[in-house]
Amino acid sequence: MKVVKFGGSSLADGEQFQKVIEIINADKTRKVIVTSAPGKRFSQDLKVTDLLIEYAKNTLNRQDTSAIRQQIWERYQQIADFFRISPTLLEPLKQELLKLTKTTYPNQDFLMAAFKAHGEKINAQLLTIILQEQNLPARFLAPEDSGFLVSGVANDAKILDKTYDNLQRWRQTQTLIIVPGFYGVTESGNIATFSRGGSDITGAIWARGVQADLYENFTDVNAIYAADPRIVSKPQAIKIMTYRELRELSYAGFSVFHDEALIPAIQGQVPINVKNTNHPDLPGTMIVPEKNFHPQNVITGVASSNHFAALYLHRYLLNKEIGFTLKLLQIFYKFNISYEHMPSGIDDLTVIFDKHQFTKKIQQKMCAEIQKELQPDSLEWIDDYAIIMVVGEGMRNKIGVMKRITAPLAKQHVAIHMINQGASRISIMLGTKKADVVEAVTQIYHQFF
Ligand code: ASP
Repeated sequence: MKVVKFGGSSLADGEQFQKVIEIINADKTRKVIVTSAPGKRFSQDLKVTDLLIEYAKNTLNRQDTSAIRQQIWERYQQIADFFRISPTLLEPLKQELLKLTKTTYPNQDFLMAAFKAHGEKINAQLLTIILQEQNLPARFLAPEDSGFLVSGVANDAKILDKTYDNLQRWRQTQTLIIVPGFYGVTESGNIATFSRGGSDITGAIWARGVQADLYENFTDVNAIYAADPRIVSKPQAIKIMTYRELRELSYAGFSVFHDEALIPAIQGQVPINVKNTNHPDLPGTMIVPEKNFHPQNVITGVASSNHFAALYLHRYLLNKEIGFTLKLLQIFYKFNISYEHMPSGIDDLTVIFDKHQFTKKIQQKMCAEIQKELQPDSLEWIDDYAIIMVVGEGMRNKIGVMKRITAPLAKQHVAIHMINQGASRISIMLGTKKADVVEAVTQIYHQFF
C-alpha cells in the first residue's frame, strides 16, 4: 500500500482538488492520504496557515476576528463550491473554525498550534466529504483517533515512538483514510504542530507506521533536479537518489522536503517518490535506501547555499594546545549557536555557521568573548561565505573526482577557500566567495552532466 501526501499548492483550490481526486482514483493501493492546508494559488497569494496565524494573533489580542475568519472560510467555500457541496455538509467545518476562539487552551502556544493545525484539519475533512459525495469509501481520521501522539512542545512537536505501534493497525484498511498533516495530539489531548512545512513529516510517519511500500509526495515540481534551475538552465531531473544523497543536498539548499521528514522514512526504509500533482504521469524522483543502490552517474547533484558565515581563528601552536576547541565550543553553547563545519590546520581553525542564527549583536558579543577567552593571534569574521555541495554515491569508489571538480574552477579563476570530504565519501564540500557561486555551480554541473 501507498501513503500519499499532497502539498499546499496541490490542494489550493477546486481545480487542484480535482487533480488530487483523479490521482487517488488512479491507483487503488493509495490508501492513506495526507493533506496540507490550502497553499498559494498564485505567487502573491497567502497560505491558509498564515491566515490562521493572523486569526490566532487577533484572538490573543482580543481584536475582532470576523474578517480574517471570513477570509479563511472563503478558501474552503471556493473549493466546496467547485464540487457543489451542500451548505449542510459544510456547516460543521465552519463551526469548527469559529469554535477555535471559544475553546480554552493550556497557554498561548497551544492556542497558536490549535489554530494553525485547523488548516490541514478542515482541508482533510473537506476532501473526505468530497470523496464521499462521489461515492468513494473515505473516512477522515483525526490524530486522536489514529493514536498519532506527539511530545508537548506546542509548535515544534516530536513524534512519540508509540505512535508507530498505534498506526500499524491501519495497514489493513479497506477504506481510504484521509489524514490531516502537520499536527498530532499530546498525551493530555492538546493539539501540537510540527515546525512549518511539517505535513511532510506526517506523511513519513504514516509511511513508516503502516510499513507502506511507497511514500508518494505530491508537490508542484516535476522532479528533484541535479542543480538549481535558477542557476543552471534546464538541469537534468534526478530519476533516483539515496536518502543520504538527499540529506547532503538539502543541506545546501535543496529544499524538497522538511528536514525531519526523511528520518521516519529512513527508519522504516520506505522509498519516497516525489511527484508533480500537475503532471502525475511523469516518474518524478525516487529516493531510496542505500542498500542495493547502483549509481548511474558519478555525481547526483550539485547544490549551493549563500546563508553561511565563517569564523577564522589563527593561533600559533594551536595543534599543541589542549582544550582550545573545547573552550570555543563552550562559547558557542553559551550563545546557543550550532556550527556546521570546523576544518582545521596546524595553527588555524575555521568554523562555518548557518548565518540565520546570528544578529549583528550576537555575532559581535560572541567574537568579543572568543577574543577574550582564547586570545587568538587573529580572528576574522567572513560574512561572504558560500558552500557548494557536490554529491553522489557514484563518487565513492571513483578516483579523480576532485580533479574534475576543481579543474574547471581553476580555469575560470574561482578561488576555493575550503574543501571538505566527509567520511561517507559521497559528498565534497567547497567553500567559496558568494560572488563565485553561480560560476562554480555551472562549471561543476557541466563537467558531469
Ligand atoms: N501548512 C503548514 C505550513 O504551511 C504545513 C505544511 O504545509 O506542510 O507550514
